[in-house]
Amino acid sequence: MKASILLVEDEERLARFVELELLHEGYQVDKSGNGREALTKALENHYDLILLDIMLPGLNGLEVLRRLLNEKEVPVILLTARDAVMDKVSGLDAGAVDYITKPFAIEELLARIRVALKLHAGHSARESARSDENKEGILKWQELVLDDRRHQVRYAGHGISLTNREFLMLKTLLENQDIVLTRDVLLNKVCGYDYAGETNVVDVYIRYLRSKIDDVFGVKMIRTVRGVGYVIQSEA
Ligand code: CA
Repeated sequence: MKASILLVEDEERLARFVELELLHEGYQVDKSGNGREALTKALENHYDLILLDIMLPGLNGLEVLRRLLNEKEVPVILLTARDAVMDKVSGLDAGAVDYITKPFAIEELLARIRVALKLHAGHSARESARSDENKEGILKWQELVLDDRRHQVRYAGHGISLTNREFLMLKTLLENQDIVLTRDVLLNKVCGYDYAGETNVVDVYIRYLRSKIDDVFGVKMIRTVRGVGYVIQSEA
């Protein structure tokens, strides 16, 4: 069953264009061009994901986001204007899972939607699994074992020394095996959303991880997905 998406955008041409693309991808789409109406819809109906513009008539998108997430848990991707850095920061603070800056390539939006939906599905599944197998904070890939509570990583029993950020990046990839994570998602996780540097810092940490794990133990753990990001595949 395809996911349902609420598209909140008051620029009609953009909204129509995105709606057609989403329908083409097989998503169920509901639309609103008013913040107040969108909040009501989002509270009264179930959506798997919400695309939320910030500058909206009726009620500002950030206010919609705050009130909505007070009531229920749903992944929200913000559609923000270029240079609206404070909007992005406030939006992520308020619990949005991601943002995309207008104008955007539709392929990028679709990729982010797929990531957000999978992360959320994984998150929900993990929440229910947490009570049993993940209780110990142990993540595994082949011979690699990451112990979150002890902050230790071992490969076939050999200890691997990682910096905090390398550890966080590895943990994020291990938690989301088989899901391609974009550089932005990894950057937010590892450096925080207020990080002001370049996204290629992600590539740098991936290189460090590969030199400490892949190169040393002769495995291909972290895969590059060109133009999108990185993934650890459970069946490598
Ligand atoms: Ca707008």
